[in-house]
Amino acid sequence: MADDFSTPVKKALADRVGHLCSNPKCRALTTGPQDDPAKAVNLGVAAHITAASIRGPRYDPDLLPEERCSPSNGIWLCQNCAKLIDNDISRFSVIVLRQWKTEAELDTKNRLGKTGAFSNSSDKPTLKIYDNVRISPVVPRVHEQSNFQVEEDRGPVYIFKKQDSHRSVEVPKSFIGSVHILGGGKPAILRLTGRLQWVSPKRTFDLFVDPPPAGPLGAYGIAKDIDLDYPRRVGIQGVSFAREERLPQLLMQGWYVYYDSDGAYLRNPGRDANQILLCNWT
Ligand SMILES: [Zn+2]
Repeated sequence: MADDFSTPVKKALADRVGHLCSNPKCRALTTGPQDDPAKAVNLGVAAHITAASIRGPRYDPDLLPEERCSPSNGIWLCQNCAKLIDNDISRFSVIVLRQWKTEAELDTKNRLGKTGAFSNSSDKPTLKIYDNVRISPVVPRVHEQSNFQVEEDRGPVYIFKKQDSHRSVEVPKSFIGSVHILGGGKPAILRLTGRLQWVSPKRTFDLFVDPPPAGPLGAYGIAKDIDLDYPRRVGIQGVSFAREERLPQLLMQGWYVYYDSDGAYLRNPGRDANQILLCNWT
């Protein structure tokens, strides 16, 4: 039996952060009016910092059941971010979530009783179905040259279809920093607060909250140093290391940079040049 939060605990968690998502890169408002004037809509979730049940993310066996469902083990998030933190527990660790919670509560405390508009998405131009967009940052950056098309507007998320392929990506509107409509038939430029990242083992794009380093440094995304035995150890097959300076040539020949499940590309600092892990099976 999962140790779930009681209604008063959920309410306290929401109230303590002003019903805004606690993810510092999101901060979406999670409540608002419904058509029925007597009702409000709730898009927020009281998420568990350590899981309620034994097979859940970040489960801590040392906690007592009453600690698992106490306010100190909860964080208020929007539905998108609640899903995000449970899909990647190495990135969204207990430490990261506690930091988000502390900062969100502190921010709410500082705003309390003061005037000032919340930052929200209402000032962003809206996209229509079949609008063409370029999304940035997309990693690897070569994809920034690709056009996407708005396939669906599902309220809190847009579904974009990559135009030269059958792939669709789901981007929460809370993840969009700005939209620049250029006009004249040009695709709109959509700037994300994080990155839309190719992940090789899953053969799909995923969203990550931190953007890649700016400039040429981040051209291939974020690197992770590994030893040469890493691919064999974790069971990655059909891949090959290549010297970093050969990448432009090899990418032209149909090789791809391999991106691990955490969105990092893999680099072995070789004796005289970095060795980068490539694959040709996307
Ligand atoms: Zn959120």
